[in-house]
Amino acid sequence: MPKPTRYIFVMGGVLSGLGKGIAVSSIARELQGLGYRVSAMKIDPYVNVDAGTMNPTEHGEVFVTKDGLETDQDIGNYERFLQVELTRDSYMTTGQVYLSVIRRERNLEYHGKTVRPVPDIPAEVIRRIKRAAQVTKAELMIIEIGGTVGEYENLLFLEAARMMHLQDSTAVQFILVSYLPIPSKLGEMKTKPTQHAVRALNAAGIHPDFVLCRGERSIDQPRRERISVFCNVHPDDVISAPDVDSVYQVPINFEREQLGQKILGKFFLKPRRRDLRDWRRLLQRVQRLRRSVRIGMVGKYFTTGEFTLSDSYLSVIESIKHASWQAGCTPNISWIDAESFERDRRLLRTLERFDGIIVPGGFGVRGVNGKIAAIEYVRRQRIPYFGLCYGLQLAVVEFARHVLKLSRAHTTEIDAKTPYPVIDMLPEQRAKLVARDFGGTMRLGEFRCRLRAGTRALDAYGRRDIRERHRHRYEVNNRYRTALERKGLRVAGFNPERDLVEIMELQNHPFFLGVQFHPEFKSYPLAPHPLFASFITAALHRQRRR
Ligand code: GLN
Repeated sequence: MPKPTRYIFVMGGVLSGLGKGIAVSSIARELQGLGYRVSAMKIDPYVNVDAGTMNPTEHGEVFVTKDGLETDQDIGNYERFLQVELTRDSYMTTGQVYLSVIRRERNLEYHGKTVRPVPDIPAEVIRRIKRAAQVTKAELMIIEIGGTVGEYENLLFLEAARMMHLQDSTAVQFILVSYLPIPSKLGEMKTKPTQHAVRALNAAGIHPDFVLCRGERSIDQPRRERISVFCNVHPDDVISAPDVDSVYQVPINFEREQLGQKILGKFFLKPRRRDLRDWRRLLQRVQRLRRSVRIGMVGKYFTTGEFTLSDSYLSVIESIKHASWQAGCTPNISWIDAESFERDRRLLRTLERFDGIIVPGGFGVRGVNGKIAAIEYVRRQRIPYFGLCYGLQLAVVEFARHVLKLSRAHTTEIDAKTPYPVIDMLPEQRAKLVARDFGGTMRLGEFRCRLRAGTRALDAYGRRDIRERHRHRYEVNNRYRTALERKGLRVAGFNPERDLVEIMELQNHPFFLGVQFHPEFKSYPLAPHPLFASFITAALHRQRRR
C-alpha cells in the first residue's frame, strides 16, 4: 500500500513580497534532505488562466514547465531547490479552476445540480492538489497559496485547505509566513501585524501550526513568546526567518531552526537521514570566492529599479550564478539598456568592459536595433556572446545583414514585409494569430534537439540528444540555412522531428552561440546548465587574456 500523502499549506500574512516562494522551496529542500519524497505546487489567485499573458515587469518572469505550461516564477524556484522537473499539475490559477468547473457543467457532468462557488470550486481545487501529489508521487506535498490572507481572492483556496484539514486533520498542516516590521523610529520588532494576520486566518477556519517570522533580523525570545501567547502557537513553532544574502542560505537557516523535523514530528514521522551536506558545502565555497566575472545583459529595460529587472530575468540570473560558482567566481551582472545604443553608437565601446554579453529572450520592436548593434559589436570584437531565444534570432538577423550583405534582413515579428525574412513565423502560428488565439499557443515546453558533431554545443553537453524548453512563435528560416552556414554561422543543433534550427554557433570566434530554447529553465545550484558553464568558461578566458 502506498503511504498517504501529507499536505503542508503555506500562506502569507501582512504583506506580499515576503519571499513565500523561497520559503516553500527551502522547506521542501530541507524535508528532501531528511529523506522524504517532497514536491511543491503553487496556487495563484489571478483570473488569468496562466502566466503567459502577463507582463514580466509586472508579475516577474514567465516560467515554462517541460510539458509547456507558462507559470509564475515560483515553479522555477521549486525546481531549482528540489532539482526536479514539475509539470502543469503543479500550478493552478483561479482562471484554470473556474474554466474546468464551467467546462464540466457544460458537459452535464453535474447532472442537473446547481453548481456553487462553495463547495464546487474548493472541490476542484482539492482534486487538483491530490492529482499533483499523485503525479509527483509526493510523500509530502507543499502547497503555496498566493496572495495574502484576508484578501477576497484567495478565500476559496483557504476554504479548500480548511476542507482538506477537516477530512483528515492528521495529514494536513498550515504554515503562515508573516512579517515583523522594525519601524526605524522605534527600532524594535513589532508583532501586532502578525497577530492580526493569524486572526484573519482563524476567521477562515484555519489555525497555523507554524508562524514563520520574516524580518530584517532574527526574532528574539520576548517576541517569540508574545507571538506564542497572542497567536496560540507553541514558542518552538515560531520560526525565525531573517533576511539573508543568498536565497540558497534559507534551507540551512530552517535546518538550524529544525523546522523540517518539527513538521515531520507533527505528522508522527521520523527523519530518514540528514543530508544537506552538498548544499552546505556549495554555500561555504561561494562565500570564499574572491574572483568575479563581469556579465552584461543587453535588453529593453524600464526604469523600474533593480527589483523588477532581476525578477523578470530570474532564471537567467540564477543560471549565471550556478555556472559562475562552479567555475570558481561570483558573477557581477550589469543591465545594459539596448535603446542607449540607438541614441549613441559610441556607447557600444562600453561593452569592452565585460567578459561576456547575453541577449536574453524578448518580444517586440523596442530596443531591437540596439540589440542588433550590440551583437554586431561583440561579434567583431570577439567578446563571448550567448543569445537566448530572441538573442539567437537577432544574431541571425545581424549576421545576415552584415556578413551576407542582405541589408534589410529582419525577423517578420518586426518587419512583416522584409525582402529577407531570415527569422519567420512558425507555420502553425499564423492561424492562431489570425484567430487572436494568444493564450498558451506559442511553441511551448520541451522538444528534442540533436547536436552536430564537432560543435561547441556537443562539447558542452557531452551527448548527442538533449531536450530543452521553448517559448516562441518565430524560428530561423530554413531557406537561409545554407547561406548562413557557408559564412560560418553553423547549425549546431536541430529538432529532428521538424528540422527546426535550435542552436547556432559562429566558427572562429571565442564564443558566439545562440539557442532557440531557454536553457535557463534547466539550471540547478548543484548542476549548472552545460551551455551557461561553457559561456562562463569562455568569459573567464577573455578576462585572463586581458
Ligand atoms: N519574440 C520571439 C518569438 O516569439 C522570441 C521569443 C523569446 O525570446 N522567448 O519567437
